[in-house]
Amino acid sequence: MFKISKKLQSLPPYLFLEIDKAKRAARAQGRDIIDFGIGDPDQPTDKHVIDALYQAALDPSNHRYALDQGMPVLRQSIATWYKKRFSVSLDPSSQILPLIGSKEGIAHFPLAYLNPGDVALVPDPCYPPYKGGTILAGGKIHLMPLLAENGFLPDLSKIPFCVRRKAKIIFVNYPNNPTNACANDDFYRRLIAFALKNKIIIISDLAYSEMAFDGYRPRSMLEFEGAGEVVIEFHSLSKTFNMTGWRVGWACGNSELVSALAKVKSNIDSGIFSAIQLAGVSALESNQDFVNKMCSLYQDRRDCLVKGLNSLGWKVFSPKATFYVWIKVPDKTGAINFAARLLKEADIVATPGVGFGKYGEGYIRMALTVAQERILEALNRLKKIA
Ligand SMILES: *Cc1c(COP(=O)(O)O)cnc(C)c1O
Repeated sequence: MFKISKKLQSLPPYLFLEIDKAKRAARAQGRDIIDFGIGDPDQPTDKHVIDALYQAALDPSNHRYALDQGMPVLRQSIATWYKKRFSVSLDPSSQILPLIGSKEGIAHFPLAYLNPGDVALVPDPCYPPYKGGTILAGGKIHLMPLLAENGFLPDLSKIPFCVRRKAKIIFVNYPNNPTNACANDDFYRRLIAFALKNKIIIISDLAYSEMAFDGYRPRSMLEFEGAGEVVIEFHSLSKTFNMTGWRVGWACGNSELVSALAKVKSNIDSGIFSAIQLAGVSALESNQDFVNKMCSLYQDRRDCLVKGLNSLGWKVFSPKATFYVWIKVPDKTGAINFAARLLKEADIVATPGVGFGKYGEGYIRMALTVAQERILEALNRLKKIA
């Protein structure tokens, strides 16, 4: 009886629907599924964070509406963490905005700057809210293909001049989901120069900065000269501290950009539960041990999976960061068919790359959120169908 809005109609289809359905059906039949599809840490949140939530939840003053702009103590601990980790100084009152998970802020940010017809430069494949947020704000998407031959970095020189003029925002995400690619300093310098020249806002999604291996330490874009004028960076406790369900993230950087997002949000939500904000402080103030332990767990799983797949002849690159292995599918039937075959013949779930955009075709993504003995079991099954 009611017709959904044109904006809602124009959202990209949710391509994981079929594989989700097939996965549920397989489980219902009692099959032993090994699920590499989930970009969500399998390990629990650290105990001291849970204790901090419990203590804070006992205090009635934390039961009321939180401050829209986040508690000062959380903003201060984010500033301290950024300083320590990246040597970047941020003013807690004007340059940091806590979010109900960074997805929320990323999806809302286009509302702050896009007018109908304005263009957002969006990498493809990408984390879906870049496209969803742009469309819901009435913006137009210009895709920047992430191709293996460019190290999965967008080729800025290929963006037509007429598009640059209409572009208002550009999304970048390194270390990258789903391709696991990392950006080098030269790319960030060129990107900032491009943004300054064309007056384009850079949205830097840094969700995976702490999930890196072999001593690699990803950088914040805010470390680079000129970034203070054009960059808003999004960060999150989700992946770093195994806190995806808690919903704590933040935006930081240029104060005008941060306050515009705050204005959008003040019309939509009423902040993060205070007890969760205080638990977030406890996570940010913890020492590096927990993060190191998680990285070494993922690194062992990575080595196990990559070595095993390569021994099957799959030609897989070992990621320097993120918990995703991005795999060129070894046959020509396409990513969706290949993922369907893995499920049918080996009870293994992998995410077809095309679900992240058309340039993800030909790839599957496997997440290292599976215990090592299950990875070995999966490799055994793959040996039989290879
Ligand atoms: C997981 C993820 C996030 C974090 O999302 P939250 O809403 O903070 O849980 C952001 N960006 C990318 C690319 C991600 O994969």
